[in-house]
Amino acid sequence: MNISELMRLDIAKRADASFKKVKEVQAILNASITFIEDDGVRRDGKLAGIPVALKDNISTKGIRTTAASNILDDYIPIYDATIVKKLADAGAVFVSKSSMDELAMGGTNRTANIGPCLNPYDPKRITGGSSGGSAALVACGAVPLAIGSDTGDSVRKPASYCGVVGVKPSYGRISRYGIIPYASSLDHVGYFTTNVADAALALEVLAGRDDLDMTSSSIPVPQYSKLLNADIEGKRILIFDNVLKAIKDDDILSAFEKLIAGLKSKGAIIETVHFRDDLMKCLFPTYFIIANAEATANHSNLDGIRFGHRIDGDSMEEVMINTRTRGFSSFIKKRFVIGSYSLFEENQDRLLRKAQKVRRLICDEVLNKLKTADVLIAPASGSIAPLIDSPSTDELNDEYLVVENHMVIGNFAGLPSMTLPLGQKEGMPFGVNITCNAFDETGMFTIGKAIEEISGLKDLTKEVL
Ligand code: GLN
Repeated sequence: MNISELMRLDIAKRADASFKKVKEVQAILNASITFIEDDGVRRDGKLAGIPVALKDNISTKGIRTTAASNILDDYIPIYDATIVKKLADAGAVFVSKSSMDELAMGGTNRTANIGPCLNPYDPKRITGGSSGGSAALVACGAVPLAIGSDTGDSVRKPASYCGVVGVKPSYGRISRYGIIPYASSLDHVGYFTTNVADAALALEVLAGRDDLDMTSSSIPVPQYSKLLNADIEGKRILIFDNVLKAIKDDDILSAFEKLIAGLKSKGAIIETVHFRDDLMKCLFPTYFIIANAEATANHSNLDGIRFGHRIDGDSMEEVMINTRTRGFSSFIKKRFVIGSYSLFEENQDRLLRKAQKVRRLICDEVLNKLKTADVLIAPASGSIAPLIDSPSTDELNDEYLVVENHMVIGNFAGLPSMTLPLGQKEGMPFGVNITCNAFDETGMFTIGKAIEEISGLKDLTKEVL
């Protein structure tokens, strides 16, 4: 059931099925790291009694928060993230700390320390990551709302693979206080729902200035759910040509074409834009250098000294070495090596600063085009969710560099971006992504609503039991 359907039930009963279901699906999906027991408290508010899952990098006071890493295996925060307070004040009831790639560094959810999270549409396939547990719990109907985080596309890619709506709002729209950081200049709180109306309502609750997060914005939060309509007459929509040209899957291409025809018939003005190819090839390397450098700095506090898992040694240095050596998987350590390398003084100019300059060029390229338009649109991925044991992608071909990395533009420029279901193939869903101008979440939901009407793919869930 979606949020508005649950709201029709008695407040005391709205979360009942959810507490059961997150546990029942665990054997099939492995989507939760910690189950939250019902505290029995039900508050009034926009989400009164509504069950919600929280990605396990969101601090919950008194409730284990591991970020799917051994190094935080026994970490119990002493404070709540701001969004946890906001959700609780709005009446939400927490049911699960959901699985994720270790420390949110990944795009598969295969790197969680509890093992991979599996796709409700086909448990032989991945959910995508890093917010895979949250996506899976919404997709299987266990919760109508789950919170994630998005540094490169970690909400929007799993949304595509799991057939749900995934939102990453503007940088600064939602407070990040209490979220275990990954790369601070790119990190956003995001979330999953099964439809656009629920997505609009959720942002009303989550968004707003927070003095505990100096990057949060003071721009007032509109009543997104009241403003919601599907009137796109005269809206200017830019088709992201570089992505379309690099996609090989005919079913995805034809579903996208049909959607564009539908948007046109609703009165939208469609234009195709081509961005500089050299910049588009740089999306992934630019992201990888910046994200890993920031992650290396952010995670230097995970050393077993102040909090988290500690492995003893004869000196403080040995404690740190032992803790970090055994606490992180080799996947994370590889990223720290890359991050440290670009942070070395002698490498900073040719790596980190250069990546920052390229990021600027990419942002300018996109922002210039969006100046006279409302939205940039493209399929969210070039494929359905890959099989769990498929080899990792050849990261140097165009399909990977452009198609599988284009959504990072939303993180580079802090733009609101959302993935919605676009079609199905071999019983698996695939999604479409829209990216709008900064703080135009209202416009993003309007276009999202129109897409939902055209595709007819609303409130998709996949029963796994
Ligand atoms: N897949 C990207 C990475 O590996 C994005 C992760 C994210 O958005 N948290 O870093």
